[in-house]
Amino acid sequence: MKFEALAVENIPLIQKGDDVPLMICKNFEFKDRDIVIISSTIVAKAEGEFFRLEDITAGKTAFDIAVRNGKDARFVQAVLARSKEVLLDMPFMLVTTLTGHTCVNAGVDESNVENGFLLYPPKDPDSSASSIGEAIEKISGKKLSVIITDTNGRAFKIGQTGVAIGVYKIKPIKSWIGEPDLFGKTLEVTEEAIVDELAGAANLLMGEGAGGTPIVVIRGLDYYCEDNTFIREIYRPEEKDVIKKGLRCLRKND
Ligand code: GDP
Ligand code: MN
Ligand code: MN
Repeated sequence: MKFEALAVENIPLIQKGDDVPLMICKNFEFKDRDIVIISSTIVAKAEGEFFRLEDITAGKTAFDIAVRNGKDARFVQAVLARSKEVLLDMPFMLVTTLTGHTCVNAGVDESNVENGFLLYPPKDPDSSASSIGEAIEKISGKKLSVIITDTNGRAFKIGQTGVAIGVYKIKPIKSWIGEPDLFGKTLEVTEEAIVDELAGAANLLMGEGAGGTPIVVIRGLDYYCEDNTFIREIYRPEEKDVIKKGLRCLRKND
């Protein structure tokens, strides 16, 4: 068994309004069922989601949080603008974004963007994945899946990995429930987060710095799904999320 991970070369610095699908197709020959993995950084740049720090006006909540965590209140304001819930504000901001992804700083980032600017994450990553996927399919004539990724830290562990924040034609989770193990016992709980695994694999070729390789194609795995798919399938339902419940308790008692 094997699969391939292929970085798409020759991608320039992305500007607002750039036709990313066309740029990708000019530099890559697709096959049916390829999985196109794209860093949220370039999707956000193409969608014009960058803002000058000096143009952001911080409100009272942002100032209050900034006093606690020592961050620039305008940066805190940017994070709040993309958050529906703040789970932690000290020593860093752990939030749930407007589309349900829980991560540090809502994915608002200063790296790989011009000095003085903040890059916000794409507003609706599933919809970005769909429009990029549909456009690539149209140009290439091939059926494929798309995953939009970001780099996130993990609870309990040092180090960041690539994770999926938006999908097109790939189901986030592969259920092993009901499958036999090596000894014939039936698996009862295992659900494999394939889109995060693929994001992590692709991130090995993207890197985090000046590599300039924001797009990786995974070839040789059969996860193509004809139906519409949604990243929210990977987010644990509120009532089952004991860690969020615990964090809310801590905030109440703070
Ligand atoms: P994130 O994980 O989505 O936040 O993106 P990163 O900032 O970690 O960047 C991932 C990869 O994309 C790295 O190889 C960067 O050098 C590259 N990258 C970021 N922006 C651009 C761009 O505008 N053009 C190109 N060619 N590469 C970029
Ligand atoms: Mn990022
Ligand atoms: Mn990254």
